[in-house]
Amino acid sequence: MIEQHARTFEILFDRPSAATADAPGRVNLIGEHTDYSGGFVFPIATPQRTRVALAPRVDRRVRAWSRDVGDEEAWIEYGLGDEARTGHWGDYIAGVTASLRESGQVVGGFDARIESDLPLGGGLSSSASLEVALLRGLRAMFGLPLDDVALAKIAQRAETGLVGAPVGIMDQMAASLADEHAALFLDTRSLVYERIPLPAATGLIVIHSGVTHRHAGGEYRTRRAECEAAARLLGVRELRDATVADLARTALPPPLDRRARHVVTENDRVLRARDALTAGDAQQFGRLMAASHASMRDDFEISTPEIDLLVGLTRDEAGVYGARLTGGGFGGSIVALADAGRAAAAAARVALEYARRVPLRPTVLIP
Ligand code: ADP
Ligand code: MG
Repeated sequence: MIEQHARTFEILFDRPSAATADAPGRVNLIGEHTDYSGGFVFPIATPQRTRVALAPRVDRRVRAWSRDVGDEEAWIEYGLGDEARTGHWGDYIAGVTASLRESGQVVGGFDARIESDLPLGGGLSSSASLEVALLRGLRAMFGLPLDDVALAKIAQRAETGLVGAPVGIMDQMAASLADEHAALFLDTRSLVYERIPLPAATGLIVIHSGVTHRHAGGEYRTRRAECEAAARLLGVRELRDATVADLARTALPPPLDRRARHVVTENDRVLRARDALTAGDAQQFGRLMAASHASMRDDFEISTPEIDLLVGLTRDEAGVYGARLTGGGFGGSIVALADAGRAAAAAARVALEYARRVPLRPTVLIP
């Protein structure tokens, strides 16, 4: 039995690879549930990455192997043009080749070896990381004329199309354009973006709560519908176009009033967070993270007692500027900005104390 990591491309496919590529995952620093209302988000790349090795084939088949899914499921194979949903990880590969074809991009058959140090389904967007890494490799190998934004759009289409997950553009834009030391301010309507470095000597803490909510998909759809209903009542195309003054003028029925207030004030916080990072002001950025968490907890109602505990424990650590829930909510992870030299010890203490208080196993994902 060969160890998984020892299964090189050459061992798997009997010839050397012709191209390699990689892409990171992402953590959203602020701007939650704003992307489907055309608003602002502020993700940063993870140090963890997905790596792909590729070689072209003479036929029109695609064969791929992943180190990260267990032996029985490791191989997938299909023909270009025959992409179909299976409900397995191969959908992300088939989604990419189907999405390329829909965009008029021509690729031939290929073999691919995949490995990632991101947790699969852990909220750091291993899916976008895989899509973007594969697209980068295919772009290099087949000479596709795609810039990084076009590549992100094709990756998103892979996921909304064949995979069948109604995701916004944030994850793929982050995987394609963000880097680890600079956050990516992104206007999800225009796709205008700006990379802004974290303040000097600061770093991130990301801790998974150990809770993955089963009904998160349903709650996500409800919140989305509520935002659309609120926009209609306010007479704007999307909540992106509403202001705090609009909210004061129009009395929305609960809970739409609270939902709209979260999105409108969150967009405003992302803009102020951009200014804070531009000025290198970690204190102000931390205050905005705290305000964002309160808004998600009280107005958007997507936090949980466990997440609130994790945020509270992290916020109370010395050297932490601010902490908040990151991702869709109802479980998942928290993110905090901290002094770089204190982040690792603080995260370890928080995880220990959290595990002492609730019957869950937290995971420190960063640092
Ligand atoms: P997240 O993107 O937050 O990690 P998703 O549910 O969106 O969670 O995507 C996770 C899915 O993406 C996995 O269940 C798997 O199907 C696919 N995937 C991601 N990375 C890999 C990988 N390295 N190998 C195989 N499949 C992967
Ligand atoms: Mg994903």
